[in-house]
Amino acid sequence: MLRTHTCGELRLTDAGKQVTLCGWVQRVRDMGAMAFIDLRDRYGITQLFLDKDPKKSFSAKLTTIGREYVLQVTGTVKERESKNLNMPTGEVEIIVSEFEILNESETPPFTIEEHTDGGDDLRMKYRYLDLRRANVRANLQLRHKVAQQTRTFLDSKEFIEVETPVLIKSTPEGARDFVVPSRMNKGEFYALPQSPQTFKQLLMVSGFDRYYQIVKCFRDEDLRADRQPEFTQIDCEMSFVEQEDVLNMFEGLVKHLFKNVKGIDIKELPRITYADAMKQYGSDKPDTRFEMKFVELNEVVKGKNFKVFDEAELVVGICAKGCAEYTRKQLDELTDFVKRPQIGATGLVYARVNADGSIKSSVDKFYDEAALRQWAEAFNTQPGDLILVLAGKADKTRKALNELRLELGSRLGLRDKNTFSCLWVVDFPLLEFNEEEGRYFAMHHPFTAPKPDDIHLLDENKLGEVRANAYDMVINGVEIGGGSVRIFNKELQGKMFGILGFTEEEAQKQFGFLMNAFQYGAPPHAGIAFGFDRLCSLFGGADSIRDFIAFPKNNSGRDTMIDAPSTIDSKQIRDLGIEVL
Ligand code: ASP
Repeated sequence: MLRTHTCGELRLTDAGKQVTLCGWVQRVRDMGAMAFIDLRDRYGITQLFLDKDPKKSFSAKLTTIGREYVLQVTGTVKERESKNLNMPTGEVEIIVSEFEILNESETPPFTIEEHTDGGDDLRMKYRYLDLRRANVRANLQLRHKVAQQTRTFLDSKEFIEVETPVLIKSTPEGARDFVVPSRMNKGEFYALPQSPQTFKQLLMVSGFDRYYQIVKCFRDEDLRADRQPEFTQIDCEMSFVEQEDVLNMFEGLVKHLFKNVKGIDIKELPRITYADAMKQYGSDKPDTRFEMKFVELNEVVKGKNFKVFDEAELVVGICAKGCAEYTRKQLDELTDFVKRPQIGATGLVYARVNADGSIKSSVDKFYDEAALRQWAEAFNTQPGDLILVLAGKADKTRKALNELRLELGSRLGLRDKNTFSCLWVVDFPLLEFNEEEGRYFAMHHPFTAPKPDDIHLLDENKLGEVRANAYDMVINGVEIGGGSVRIFNKELQGKMFGILGFTEEEAQKQFGFLMNAFQYGAPPHAGIAFGFDRLCSLFGGADSIRDFIAFPKNNSGRDTMIDAPSTIDSKQIRDLGIEVL
């Protein structure tokens, strides 16, 4: 080996040892007769001391080195005169006797430090330099740890990791597929998997019983901060289980990860139905780090000649504790916030419960003190609280109030990244009506089983009312995982495809392999998949998943470092038998 130690491990107890280190030059401080160099590798930074006596063999080389040069140095470990107790190696330095330049470096386009001067674009183009920064590297080390602990837990529960293919068949349901032209089968295409869903179900038919895979998935969707065209799932499936068993097993996994990665004990996860989540939080992924539940006011506010409320399908509000003192300006800001087109409320009504107990609202003309007292009762307010109310179409108003609730939660500092609130959302609707396409879509995917109690609704054409045995794990308002009990009966699966608008022929063409497999003794099975990148960013206290992926794509789906996607040459195109516009 070219070194005896890493740059992160020498301590005072090593004083007097002769050592050889290798690493990158973080910083050179030239003091005239001597120089200090901070040498960095993955493990840390060690200070080097160089006597610039011209008689020393290295003095000539010393003048040429700059940031990010790769060095090999030999010397003696010595106690430092001025110690830096903020770094683990800060009590020692190396008195260098020999040094070798292993490689030179151009001046890097941004500083390789925690707070770099490089913008996002530059950092992505030179990602290999960005990854030298301690904080970015720490994110990937965290990712490694989450993966290792996932494997440890699932292995201990008899899950086996099986790799499923990456070149598969395109399916019309779900997100858009990435496709790959087949050279050997001209005019035909593979698709990259959006998830290994059908394969893991087939593995259950094969009797694998418990499967998992930390696996790349691909979806050709518009991108956001927490989305990448390729992302990683912890994908799992189990046989001979009911929903309850799956929830318990994967609650166990998440508790194990919190304990072993973050050192945090998580209590039993509360469960909330989809319907309650929508009613109480206006979201199927509520951030439960703080309360501020919705209170519906139809009964309380209607019939006082305030047209906006009288004509609304739903009048609903939240109580912001201790915010009665909000200034006019702050309230205007909140009103502007809810009126933004993305949120779409038409206005915001407020009522201040003052410290002296009096109540003042923005609709005093219609609601006297006695009426407002009823509002206060509905919210169970205390002096100093602020009531905020929206009205309109039920779904839209709930969605808007959800945004307002989250905004207030942020403003009030109730969404601390080091606090974790996990829960299960259960009983999702099986189907969701799409106005544009004029038909029902599977809310989760077409393989999800309806609740046995609701199956009759399928025949009664009450499709929107059917609940599924489907569940999501939500942490801090982020959907971290989701899954369902599966249909394992050929007839029911066929019926589902019919409901989703497939003709029998189409269903056979697309999913015949699955329905055929179901004829050979398919066991009852259920599963779940976790968004691995999201889980890592959550553990790392970040909003974006990008810095938890070694080589991510930008918002346009580009890798600017390798410059992909790119055109291919005409011979390749000819070989593939495709036409390029
Ligand atoms: N395959 C599903 C997904 O990607 C998860 C599951 O149902 O297990 O969301």
